[in-house]
Parts: sequence; structure tokens; C-alpha cells
Amino acid sequence: MTPERAGELSMLISQRTFYLNSIPNGLPIQGIRISGKYGMRMHPVLDKRTMHYGIDFKADKGTPIYATADGAVEFAGYNKQSGFGKLIILQHGFGFKTYYAHLNDIKIKSGQFVSKGQLIGLSGNTGRSTGPHLHYEIRHLFRPVDPAPFVAWDMSNFDSLFSTVKGIEWASLKDVPAKPNAANGKAITIIAEGNKFSGDMSIVGRMHIDGMFEGNISSLDNISIGKNGHIRGVVKANQISVCGLVEGEVWCDELEIDRGGKVFATVTSKVMAIHPEGNFVGERKMKEVNTAEPLPHMESGIEAIDSLPDKVTLNSDDEQLSKA
Ligand SMILES: [Zn+2]
Repeated sequence: MTPERAGELSMLISQRTFYLNSIPNGLPIQGIRISGKYGMRMHPVLDKRTMHYGIDFKADKGTPIYATADGAVEFAGYNKQSGFGKLIILQHGFGFKTYYAHLNDIKIKSGQFVSKGQLIGLSGNTGRSTGPHLHYEIRHLFRPVDPAPFVAWDMSNFDSLFSTVKGIEWASLKDVPAKPNAANGKAITIIAEGNKFSGDMSIVGRMHIDGMFEGNISSLDNISIGKNGHIRGVVKANQISVCGLVEGEVWCDELEIDRGGKVFATVTSKVMAIHPEGNFVGERKMKEVNTAEPLPHMESGIEAIDSLPDKVTLNSDDEQLSKA
């Protein structure tokens, strides 16, 4: 495979990954079976023919429920009027929303950002429900759509969704650049100075961190860490620049340690630049194939670094301190 070809493929994968993170896909729950499909049916409680706007997953009370795409929590609480009982509504990219109803427990709060695969609640039997199950809906611009093709959608059948699901202007989606252009937007500060975030976060655009972040953070674009920023965990991005402190693991194409920046980490990066007043203690690795969950877009350039050694270890004056 030529490097050009590898680059092409990884671009395709990164585009797909972007859409698969933004638009609901996959199972929200490992249910026992699907006990109700989308469409007209006899309502089990009201005893008349009604439209069923979601999929019902029969599941024992307390079964974990996961966000099916990145998004923000529009509603999380008891919703008496709808009959949905304890309900979560998530807003996703491109006008999609997901509804998770009849929950026993809610693990997130409205206003919070969630990432695909994040635990958001536990299934239950609250509201107008005849037995423990998850009622799952997908809406696009306020209109319910059949979740079934979205549940079946993944990397392997990526293109199928666009021909299966009618009534959505998919053609125009193809014109949306999958990767926001770093040049035409400022980084969004996701953690301000003095604030602390613990957990995992996966975001598409540029990010700037001035506070404390503990956990795994990834972006398809660039991440900058301000002089008061501190990441303890795993950070993955296209380019990472550090004026503050990073402890843990770094995955990127380009790492820049700026004046005053400190990186105490295992760094997997193609390019690494350290300011004379920057600090790096740790091990530098070249990209490896069998690593735990590398972001697909990071595969680019594997061919290009074949001639470089597998591992490069850089030492700095602080190494003795960190070992002490
Ligand atoms: Zn239902």
C-alpha cells in the first residue's frame, strides 16, 4: 500500500468515524429481545390502534443504557405527561435526537455533554409501561424515524443507511466537510481555568483546555493545553500543543511542547517538537499497529515512518526527579 493510498483510506475512515459518532447508530442496550417495532400497533395499555414511534427492547430492570451518538442532554428526568416515565432526550449532530424512556435510573444531567457509548441510565418500567423495557426513539428535525436501520448501521455497512432511510436530505450531508477546518474556527475552550472534569470525552472539533481534565480525551482535530491546563490520562488528537501539563499517554500526529509546557507521558507521535523551555519526560513511541483503540485517523503515515526506529527514548534533566 502506498502512503498516498493509506492516507486516502484513513480519510475515508475518519469521515465515517465522524458520522458514526455524530448520528445515532448501534444498540442503546443489550436487551433480551425486541418486543415492539416502529409502526402501527395495538397499544398494550390504551388498547387501541396507535402509532409506535420507537423500538422496544425487553430488558431486565437495571440493564445499562448507552448513548448511541455524541451529544448534549436536552432532558433527563421524570416526564409524566408523555407516559415515558423517567426519560432521557439527547441532542446529536445534524438534527438528530434520541429518546430513552421508562428508565429506572438516570446517570446524567440535562445540559451535560455525552459521548457515544457512554452509560446514561438503567432500564426500568416507569411511566405508561406494562413491563421492564427500554423504549428507544430517534427523531430527525422533530419527526420520528424508524430506529431499526440506525440500530443496524455501522462501519461495515456505512453507505446502506443513506439508501435505506428515506425522507432525510442525505445528499446534502455528503457536502458537509467531515473534519472541521482548523483554519476557519477558533478552538472551543471546553474546560476553563479553575474547573475540573473527570471522565471520558470525545469531540470532533478543536479544543482548548485551561482547567484540570482527568480521563480520556480525544478529538479528530487539534487540542491545545493552556499554561494552567492539566491533563491526567490519555489524550488523542491530530495535533496537540502543550503550554501546561500532560501526565499519562499522548497519541497524535504532531506534538508540540511549548515554552513552560510539561509532558510526563508515553508519547506516540510522528512529529514532536520541544521548545528549549519545554519539558518532556517519558518514552516516545512510533506508531504501532496493535495498540488499544487507536483512533482510525491516526493510522495515516504508517508507511511514511517505516524507516524510523521503533522506539525513541528521550531523556531530560527531570528524569531523575520523576523516578524518585
Ligand atoms: Zn415503546
